[in-house]
Amino acid sequence: MTSPRPDVERRTAGPVDSFGRTIDYLRISVTDRCNLRCVYCMPLSAPDLAEHEGILTATEIESVVRSAVDVGFRKFRLTGGEPTVRRDIVDICQRISAISGVDDLAMTTNAVRMPELAQPLADAGLRRVNVHVDSLSALALPRIMRRGDLNRILAGIAACEAAGLTPIKLNVVVVKGMNDEEVADLAALTLERPWHVRFIELMPLGSSEEARISVVRYVSNVVTRERIEERLGALEPVATTNASDESQNLRVPGAPGVIGLISPVSRPYCGSCNRMRLTADGRFHLCLLRDDDLDVRAALRSEAPATERDQRVREILLRAVTGKPTGHRLEAGLHTRGRRMHQIGG
Ligand code: SAM
Ligand code: SF4
Repeated sequence: MTSPRPDVERRTAGPVDSFGRTIDYLRISVTDRCNLRCVYCMPLSAPDLAEHEGILTATEIESVVRSAVDVGFRKFRLTGGEPTVRRDIVDICQRISAISGVDDLAMTTNAVRMPELAQPLADAGLRRVNVHVDSLSALALPRIMRRGDLNRILAGIAACEAAGLTPIKLNVVVVKGMNDEEVADLAALTLERPWHVRFIELMPLGSSEEARISVVRYVSNVVTRERIEERLGALEPVATTNASDESQNLRVPGAPGVIGLISPVSRPYCGSCNRMRLTADGRFHLCLLRDDDLDVRAALRSEAPATERDQRVREILLRAVTGKPTGHRLEAGLHTRGRRMHQIGG
């Protein structure tokens, strides 16, 4: 990452929303396409994908990041769909990491393509990865991550580690009746490895099969500390310096790794939410569990002079921050219907 611009350094922190939260973290979905199609995220056949021309280009993504830095955003994450299926993903990383004021650039990935890409991405300025893996059983994994192959994902994790994309954080989405019996085995990885194994509560999104699976199975699907302690013994809390960390962090005393419990449904962290999301088709999505969004693509593609266009993008982003809601309404049966998870980015 290049040294910070003096003008950026002088600026105050990120914009504050109407609930007093500082929003300085942008999660950028670079594609809605994916090579795996997990049951709760993306349909197996005929997913409604954005037209190629509708997806933001590397230059447009770079423009949004510059505008975001200008209004005080500091942390950025690339996601999808699967970000590594995009052919220009290394170029996108390179462009973002070269922007002064970008303090952190991470990626959420299924790691299938990481054996080839981990080192080029690290060289392009990517700092860390979260790797999605729902099972340690080669047989069980494809029941959830449908086109997934455990050995390829493990090879991808090894490549990320070798490239220094650390700390490695593993995302495990817990689905009742599919992998909930494996929670203790997955947590036990932290006894041997300096990995963060994070159990994520299933969220209902979309209006079809994925949402149905999620709505049916998120009920009483909570991974509790007690359940892990039954197998691994007493856990101790791990202090975090990141006030917006959505994870309750625990460890087996003396273990190198960390166990994280992320419970957006049963234990929402809306009060400390610092995120804005950009979809691959150029909309700011204000909250994962709601449908509110704001178009920025039209501004990016307008014929206006660059300075005017950038000003417009900054205004739309600040409007998105001001409009950010708080609290989900799942208990009232309301959830995100307009988009599935692969269309927002998690
Ligand atoms: N393809 C990458 C991956 O799988 O990590 C990045 C995109 S994926 C949408 C981002 C994260 O969303 C995944 O790591 C997974 O943990 C999470 N996810 C997907 N669908 C979910 C759901 N219905 N509920 C909770 N988490 C979900
Ligand atoms: Fe693909 Fe990630 Fe969604 Fe699974 S969770 S279908 S890997 S985008």
